[in-house]
Amino acid sequence: MDRIRKAAEILLRKKNTAVLTGSGISVDSGIPTFRCSQGIWSQYPPKEYAFLKNFKKDPVKLWRFFNRLADEFGHARPNAGHFALAELERMGIVRSIATQNIDALHQEAGSRDVLELHGNSRLLRCIFCGNVYEKNHPPEVIDRIPFCACGKILKPDFILFGEDLPDQAMKKAFQEAKQASIYIIAGTSADVAPANRLPYRAKSRGALIMEINTGQTDLTHTIVDIRLRGSTSVILPRLVEEIQLLQSTG
Ligand SMILES: [Zn+2]
Repeated sequence: MDRIRKAAEILLRKKNTAVLTGSGISVDSGIPTFRCSQGIWSQYPPKEYAFLKNFKKDPVKLWRFFNRLADEFGHARPNAGHFALAELERMGIVRSIATQNIDALHQEAGSRDVLELHGNSRLLRCIFCGNVYEKNHPPEVIDRIPFCACGKILKPDFILFGEDLPDQAMKKAFQEAKQASIYIIAGTSADVAPANRLPYRAKSRGALIMEINTGQTDLTHTIVDIRLRGSTSVILPRLVEEIQLLQSTG
């Protein structure tokens, strides 16, 4: 309790906060992480389904996987953790969220400045001609497989292994990390490159590092200044409550 109060005081005082999120924040929306490799991931081993070369070799096979993902998780809704971050942005405390998720739940919860480091699942992109379409409006769909106007099979605009990360989002995320007074790592162990460099960049520029995770990570005992242990869907709303309380008592 005290720890959350203290964190709330610091957030309210410094504002200027950047956030990095990962799969942990969407677990309570029913989206499992790659790491708890139960269910779907064991049926679709990453080495057969997660690489660009897999898509190039057999896009029809990969679309069976993408459609399964959409069927299982397409109806996921933001949880209290997503809503709390959106609230922190409205309060003028959070500047931006860099996320490794492709589920768009931050935007659905109302967050505006969201940097999608691994792309998104709202768009379809042609890896041959570069055309981009809204997910629901490709030129042609045959057996749930979307086709480009050029005749090739479209790829979801999220990043497969072996693909470049979105340059703009990445650049902006590093800029935000450099400028932040507080850097929050929420629902991610932040150990996948290059996103894993963001907290270090923030730290090297003097930011306080706040971690909200259920377990400990490589960062916990290295660069983290304030650790709030628990699920993001519990801790983040409590932070918002504490901040509101502090504001109301002046
Ligand atoms: Zn095309």
